[in-house]
Amino acid sequence: MIDIHAHLCFPGLLEDKERIVRECEKEMTVVIVTSARLEEGICALDICSKHDKLFPTIGFHPVEGGTEVRRIMELIRERKDDIVGVGEVGLDYHWVKDDKKREQQKKVFSDFIKLAEELKKPLVIHSWDAEEDCFGMLKDVTVPVIMHCYSGPKELAERILEKENFYISISTHVLLSKQLRKIAKIVPLERMTIETDAPFLSPYKYMQAKGTEGRLKPGFDPEKNYPWNVRFAAEKIAELKGVDVKEVITKTTDTAKKIFGLML
Ligand SMILES: [Zn+2]
Repeated sequence: MIDIHAHLCFPGLLEDKERIVRECEKEMTVVIVTSARLEEGICALDICSKHDKLFPTIGFHPVEGGTEVRRIMELIRERKDDIVGVGEVGLDYHWVKDDKKREQQKKVFSDFIKLAEELKKPLVIHSWDAEEDCFGMLKDVTVPVIMHCYSGPKELAERILEKENFYISISTHVLLSKQLRKIAKIVPLERMTIETDAPFLSPYKYMQAKGTEGRLKPGFDPEKNYPWNVRFAAEKIAELKGVDVKEVITKTTDTAKKIFGLML
């Protein structure tokens, strides 16, 4: 079972990361430790260098990424042999309405796309209300592209899937979102990864409503998400597709291994 997107170095998990990593080592095949800011990226590199099942990606959040974008690009170059991908990077029109600022986001995003192509690293894409522009900018890339936490329209998901190097990542939010359940149904497991986006998107509310919150790991804050909760997304996807949960876990694990070039 692979969670392809967990912010283990983000406040909320950071303070408790050694204990979280110990649980991940028991339960997970791999966790891809994502980052979106300079200090988070440095921390991700550090923690992944100490644990066999953790692999880092380095990126820059289009809104919350801070001011050190050039330094992050240098870090990606310097540590290219240690990272398994570039991301999360992308566009966020949900929080940014100003055209000039959107143009700036595009410029930065385009630089990261070029860098990933040059280094032949997969891209992990953040897109919020900007899926069409993101896809437009990514159409010609040759490296694998993961649409992390995909939340765009179904019709665009269909167009994305026409491109062989594109993958759609379904988060634990599939438990709560009807729209996302529609998307999960149409994405073949060979083109799907699963993720938590931890510490965000905790399944707690959904599980509480179902009376199944007792399945959450004791001793960890139920309001936060953790990599092992990706199992609940896998279960929902299995239910939607009418297949065994083992098949969802095996196939999404194989898909993630292929994308990130993991030799396990
Ligand atoms: Zn993220």
